[in-house]
Amino acid sequence: MRKKIFKRLALAIAIGAAGISASNLALANHAWGNYHWARSTPQFTLKLGNNLTTSAWTARLSQTSNDWNAGNTPALTAIVGGGTSARTCKMVPGTTQVCNASYGNNGWLGLASININGDHITQGTAKMNDTYFNTTTYNNVNEREHVMCQEVAHTFGLGHQSEDGSSQNSCMDYFSNTGAYATSTVSTKPNAHDFSLLNSIYSHLDSTSTVAATPGPVGSAAKGGANVDISDDPNSWGALMKQSANGRASTYQRHNDDGSVTLTHVFWTNEAAASCPSCDHRRQYWDSH
Ligand SMILES: [Zn+2]
Ligand SMILES: [Zn+2]
Repeated sequence: MRKKIFKRLALAIAIGAAGISASNLALANHAWGNYHWARSTPQFTLKLGNNLTTSAWTARLSQTSNDWNAGNTPALTAIVGGGTSARTCKMVPGTTQVCNASYGNNGWLGLASININGDHITQGTAKMNDTYFNTTTYNNVNEREHVMCQEVAHTFGLGHQSEDGSSQNSCMDYFSNTGAYATSTVSTKPNAHDFSLLNSIYSHLDSTSTVAATPGPVGSAAKGGANVDISDDPNSWGALMKQSANGRASTYQRHNDDGSVTLTHVFWTNEAAASCPSCDHRRQYWDSH
């Protein structure tokens, strides 16, 4: 198994090195729609609000921010003070709020939501569920890093590189850094393909900005106000739009009263996915409450 993963990894690297044509093929299905932050400069800085309550998570956010800043990127990140509470993790206009809490035995490890007006992201949240990360299976640096890296990057507008459990050596895949792979750092960081996609998503300029000014007060740039947040009630996520064949990755969409749309990426546990890959997992955990 280990050998197979590294073979795939070597192949992925080889394809990346082979050039533009191979990576362009994959670009088409790796973006999360056309969603992006509006900005009028080629490079912008997205504020990541730190609402994290444990050093195990703040260390992971620092690593993730550094990793996403380390490539040739249009989307720099800066960690700033949190603008919400870890438990409610409400959106703050112009920013991504990052949170952790024991959100309950609800089947998900990580959740990323973006609020959009048209194609423009106006605010986002990334949540990590300690109910699972405090268990032996998931409580290791690499699995935490993988999920943190992915949830934060969903709020840039990035989707997954793959969802079948193979490693592309990108945190935007569904390799599981658990069990025999708990000590493996594979898939805990972005790879070159992620950065080339970010550059493609952000290759145009907008005349307006939805990104909060840096420095400047949080929430000064974008519209907000209406209730666009998702809550602990998974029915607040809206309709299930898409789910991977193995049941680990789902996307939900909700239309809000102010005309905006809230999209949510859900990273399900291995157990939730395996128990019924084709089910809307909300039903497995919520309807029995
Ligand atoms: Zn635009
Ligand atoms: Zn995801």
